[in-house]
Amino acid sequence: MLVGKHYDYLVVGGGLYGSVFAHKAAHSGKKILLIDKRQTLGGNTYCEKIEDIIVHKYGPHIFHTSNKEIWNFVTSIVQFNRFTLQPLANYKGRLYNLPFNMNTFYALWNVKTPQEAMEMINQQKVKGSDCPENLEEQAISLVGNDIYKILIKGYTEKQWGRNCKKLPPFIISRLPIRFTYDNNYFNDLYQGIPIGGYNELISRLLTGIETHCNTDFFDNRQYFEDIADKIVFTGRIDEYYNYKFGKLEYRTMRWDTEIFDIPNYQGVAVVNFTDAKVPYTRIIEHKHFEFGTQSKTVISHEYPQEWQDKCEPMYPINDDKNNSLYNKYKALSNKQDNVIFGGRLAEYKYYDMDKVIESALSAPVR
Ligand code: UDP
Repeated sequence: MLVGKHYDYLVVGGGLYGSVFAHKAAHSGKKILLIDKRQTLGGNTYCEKIEDIIVHKYGPHIFHTSNKEIWNFVTSIVQFNRFTLQPLANYKGRLYNLPFNMNTFYALWNVKTPQEAMEMINQQKVKGSDCPENLEEQAISLVGNDIYKILIKGYTEKQWGRNCKKLPPFIISRLPIRFTYDNNYFNDLYQGIPIGGYNELISRLLTGIETHCNTDFFDNRQYFEDIADKIVFTGRIDEYYNYKFGKLEYRTMRWDTEIFDIPNYQGVAVVNFTDAKVPYTRIIEHKHFEFGTQSKTVISHEYPQEWQDKCEPMYPINDDKNNSLYNKYKALSNKQDNVIFGGRLAEYKYYDMDKVIESALSAPVR
C-alpha cells in the first residue's frame, strides 16, 4: 500500500504521545507515517457520540495541568471548556465529597472546623508509619482509619485487584487532602475538556499527517522497520521485545453503557462506589463533562478487570515485581538509538495526559 515511500518517522500508536510527537515533528518539516492497530485514533481519549452526547469511551478524561506551556499548547490547538472534576463517593448509599476535604470530614464526623478535622485524623493515624511502605500505610498515615475504610480500601482493591498492602503508596498520593471546603479533585492551575471532545484535539494535531488505522506494527514488523529512519513506539514495551523477559501486568476496564430517556441521571459526571461489595468502581454520566442539555442521558458503569491478551492494557501495575521487569526492558531500550519509547505503555508509567504531552514535546526530533 505504501510502496516506494520512505519516512523520517514511523509513529506506532495514535494516542496522545504519538499524536503530539507527530504534530511536533511534522511542524519541524519531518515526513511522518502514523499507524494504529485500532479503528480509531486518540488512544484512550477516543470519544463516541451517542444521542448527541460525547461519550468518553475509555473512561473519564479530564485534562488538568499546572504547566503553563502545556496549557498554552493544548489551548492553541483547541478551545477548552470550564469543567472542574468534583466527584462524589457513594458508600453504602451515603454520599461523600471527594477529594478528601472539609465537606467530606463534615459528612463523616460532623466536624465543622479544620482543627476538629485534624484532631479526628490525628487520633486515627497509626503511629510508626512516617515512612509508609504500601498504599494502606500511606492512606492511614494521611487520612486515618475511617476514611481508609470508607473511601479508599474497597475502591482501591476493586480498581487494582490487589490488596492495599501490596500496592505502592504513590497511587494514593494522587489525591489531594484539604482542610478547606473545596471539592475540586485536582490542585492544578488549569483544567477543562476540549470543546467538541478529545477527537477534535487529536484530529487537529494530526491534520496533514498520513495516518493508517487498523494497521498493526507487529503484523508486518520488518516492513515497517524499513520504511522509516526512526520509530516512535507507543505500544507495550514487552511486546516490542517479544516478551523475552516475561509479560508485564496491567489492569483493564470494561464499561457497560446505557441510554436513559431522562435528562439527568445522577446530577454529576462521576460517582465513585467505594464499597467492595458493589462490583463496579464508578458511574460516569457523560453529558455533565460538557454541561449537556440533551433530553436523554448516557451513563457507563466501570468494571476494572485483570488484563489478558486481546483486551486493552490500561493501567500499568507499578509494583516491585512489574517495575523490576520493566527495568530490564528499559535497559534494552536505552541502547536503541533509532527508537523513541513514549507514553503509558512504552514507559510502563501511570501518566496523566499533561505529563504525556510534556514528554512528547520534549522528545528529540532529529
Ligand atoms: N481512590 C480511592 N477512592 C476513590 C478514588 C480514588 O481510594 O474514591 C484511590 C485509588 O487507589 C485510585 C487512586 O486513588 O487508584 C487514584 O485515583 P484517580 O481518581 O486519580 O484514578 P484514575 O482516574 O487515574 O483512575
